[in-house]
Amino acid sequence: MSGFHTLESNSSVHANETGLTATHVLKIMGRMLYIMDPKENAFKDMDSIPEQTYIQQTLPYFFTMIILEWIVLILKGKTPRLSDGMMNVAHGLIMSLTDVFTSGFLFGVYLFIHRNFCIYELPWDSTFTWIVAAIGVDFGYYWVHRAAHEINLLWAAHQVHHSSEDYNLSTALRQSVFQAFGSWPFYLPLAFFIPPQHVVVHHEFNLLYQFWIHTEVVKNIGFLENILNTASHHRVHHGANRYCLDKNYAGVLIIWDRMFGTFEWERSDIKIVYGLVDQPQFFNPISHQLFYYGKVLEKARSMDNWMDFFFAFVKGPGWFPGTERLGDITFVPEEPVRDVYAPKISPLLHVYTVLHFIISIIAADLVVRTLQDMEQWTSLLVILYIIGTLTSLGVLYDGTRWAWIAELSRCMVSLVYLDVLAQFMIFPPHTLQLAFTGSAIVASACLASDLMGKKEKAE
Ligand SMILES: [Zn+2]
Ligand SMILES: [Zn+2]
Repeated sequence: MSGFHTLESNSSVHANETGLTATHVLKIMGRMLYIMDPKENAFKDMDSIPEQTYIQQTLPYFFTMIILEWIVLILKGKTPRLSDGMMNVAHGLIMSLTDVFTSGFLFGVYLFIHRNFCIYELPWDSTFTWIVAAIGVDFGYYWVHRAAHEINLLWAAHQVHHSSEDYNLSTALRQSVFQAFGSWPFYLPLAFFIPPQHVVVHHEFNLLYQFWIHTEVVKNIGFLENILNTASHHRVHHGANRYCLDKNYAGVLIIWDRMFGTFEWERSDIKIVYGLVDQPQFFNPISHQLFYYGKVLEKARSMDNWMDFFFAFVKGPGWFPGTERLGDITFVPEEPVRDVYAPKISPLLHVYTVLHFIISIIAADLVVRTLQDMEQWTSLLVILYIIGTLTSLGVLYDGTRWAWIAELSRCMVSLVYLDVLAQFMIFPPHTLQLAFTGSAIVASACLASDLMGKKEKAE
């Protein structure tokens, strides 16, 4: 028996961690770099895992670091786009709100295999198990990620993460709602020997680590570039340049890419162009989450035989009949020249969207933390409301024709159900009433101005 804590001592560690002490802050920052004491981060069973996920515990740190990075970028004379950054976070919120419905179901298969077909159960309280789980999950992640790029149907989900044309810490939060559906089978081999609670927490640690690598501020970290996935390697992964395509799939350890032939160093002679090869021209987050499934179906239906119809789903996104499995990338320029999608947005619109964005973040945070105690229907409706709000903000940025009609309707619904909404806010009901009444007036005025503008155009 190794010298690990008992379950009771683990609980006390977490009780002590709650408060904003320097130790607590350091522990969370350490976790974001996968630096932690295995003894404090191993659990006896699934029920012992902290109720609030590690990612939820880290949210305030994500936001603080995003703001700090923005300050650094502005001081360097760069201007990160508020619209793009806000939509990155919107995708993260939508993903964590929907994740609560899917994760339990998806992980059920792992639990079933582990319960019934486990070959050798590694002891939960051994450092060896903790390390094997960390490496096993990272290895699984490499294949999850590689499959997400090389199988068109899985790419339909993962392309969301690549659809920002900026590259900063907020990009890390731009996640797909549907990616988990294609990911879980890749972790199943671990079920034959690794306790499920280890896989759950290491999967979170793995994702936490990947936050810091989404930045242009850190250039390189010397010798560690050979072992770890770093900002430099991940910038290559996000590039739409030819040399960047299908490279650097790693989560934490870059060694997997080096072993399996998908590694590429960042080049100093070529400026990386971020985003998708065929960049969608909209911000609407729901469209981003869904539109590529339509493209997959369209591609499949354009095939003239059943075999190619099937291949359209399972071969690479760039594949077409007559090309290699991953398609022909020679048509992709080494240095693409294109304009970033940037519709004209007035500073006043930013003020409006930021106000409602903050309201959404507060509501989403509370919903995720109190979901267990809520009626299922209430939670579902509130989650749909928040997703609707974030979508409305994206549509406002896009300047879509019906954007202000949707926004006015949303403000009216918010005013009607103000009492319910107030339960998910730190603001008193009368402040919310004021905010939504003011917003409804603004939305009406903008709608009227849009209609007048259209009428004038028609004349
Ligand atoms: Zn990727
Ligand atoms: Zn990324």
